[in-house]
Amino acid sequence: MSGSSGAAPVDALEQALHAARALVLADLVAGGVAEADVVSLVEDSVAHRRWWVNEWPDGLPYLAGLVAQDVQDALLERYGRWPLCPVCGAGDPHALDVQPELGPDPHWVCGKAGVRVAAVGGLSRVPGHGVGGSGASPA
Ligand SMILES: [Zn+2]
Repeated sequence: MSGSSGAAPVDALEQALHAARALVLADLVAGGVAEADVVSLVEDSVAHRRWWVNEWPDGLPYLAGLVAQDVQDALLERYGRWPLCPVCGAGDPHALDVQPELGPDPHWVCGKAGVRVAAVGGLSRVPGHGVGGSGASPA
C-alpha cells in the first residue's frame, strides 16, 4: 500500500515538468531546431515523464536531464545528432551527452574532451553547436 502523503504535490510536479520543458526548448531554439514537429517531441517526452515521475516522485529533480535525453534520442532518429559538440573543432562531429544521466543539475558534456559545455537550458550562451548536417547558423 502506498499512501498519498508520500507523493510530490501536483504543483511541484507540474512546475518541474514545465521547467524541464522550458530548458530543453531553450536549447532547441539555440540550436535552430525548434520546429513544430520537434516541439512535439518535447511534448511527447514531457507526457511520458509526467507518468514516470508519478511512479517515482523522487525523480523530480532529474526531469530536465531526462527530457533532454529523450529529445536527443528522438532527434537522432529523425534529424541527426543534437546538440553538436562546439568544443572539438576537428574530427567527426559528435553530440554532447547529458551528465549526470539520472541526477539533478544536468549539464551538456563533451565525452571526448571531457569538457562541461553548458547547463541543460544554457546552450544559447555557447556558440558553435547545432544539429548534425544542417549548416544553419544562429541568428
Ligand atoms: Zn567534443
